[in-house]
Amino acid sequence: MDHLQRSRLNLLTSHLLDRGALLRLDPESIAERAADQRARFIGIHHMRIAVDEQDPGRPAWLTSREVTDRFGQCEGRVYLGEAGQTPYFALLLDHNLPKSSEGFSGLRSLAREVSNAEATLLAYAQAMAAWHHRYRFCGHCGGATQPDQGGHVRLCSEVQCGATHYPRTDPAIIVLVQRGSHALFGRKPEWPPNRYSTIAGFVEPGESAEQAVVREVDEETGIDVTAVRYHSSQPWPFPGSLMLGYHAQAGSERISLNDQELEDAIWLSREELASRIAQGLFVPPPSISISFRLIEDWFDQESPFTLHTVCQKNEVEFF
Ligand SMILES: [Zn+2]
Repeated sequence: MDHLQRSRLNLLTSHLLDRGALLRLDPESIAERAADQRARFIGIHHMRIAVDEQDPGRPAWLTSREVTDRFGQCEGRVYLGEAGQTPYFALLLDHNLPKSSEGFSGLRSLAREVSNAEATLLAYAQAMAAWHHRYRFCGHCGGATQPDQGGHVRLCSEVQCGATHYPRTDPAIIVLVQRGSHALFGRKPEWPPNRYSTIAGFVEPGESAEQAVVREVDEETGIDVTAVRYHSSQPWPFPGSLMLGYHAQAGSERISLNDQELEDAIWLSREELASRIAQGLFVPPPSISISFRLIEDWFDQESPFTLHTVCQKNEVEFF
């Protein structure tokens, strides 16, 4: 399986959308699509997604008339692209509604209820909305910025500056470290009880993603990484990361929580992992995450049961 195929198995990586990158340069075409009766709009409000008022487990893809009925006039919108004959837009509602508004839900819970294609679109919409919210002012001169190109750039409105700002994606690495038959798991103090995951961290300026793997594993666990193998990637719009997934080999075993970012780190074999899940002592990362996939790919290689089966059998609640 090549990396494209492997990445497509990650949630939030559906490729069914035509992003219409060239179309963004033509404001009239964007306006035509927004006026099209087939167009659908998804409201995003402070990192939460508008849900159906009758069925709160479903995202509310609204027509333009329904948008006006529910939210009034909305200036901020982002052209996301088209699937089939349907143009899709994100609505930026941060300034339209009070912060505590009801009728919105988090991507993590919605993503489990909808298809991968729909979850991908929601993740894209959320990432764009979060970027617009953070880049209302120019990083060069502090002037106000205005959206352009269907919401895919923001332009500084100060004549002397006029800087163009593009949506940001921040690369982060996430890695399952192996040593013999064991894999390394860590837990952050702010996580729900017994949640463990793979090691992760942001790539720093001036380093490669592979160097970031070696550095993060050393900083967080004191483990020496000797080999790194790329697995796949996943957009992670909380608010704007791209997770680069790896499997790595450890050259040492002794754990030392050097930077105190983790409160615990443990080596587990597949049998120990299954046993801990059964006892409620290990809650895996959310099933929508690349972290789960990294663990699953390792676990399923040499186990009579898949990780999914183990989680289902023990009624693991992903959260
Ligand atoms: Zn500026």
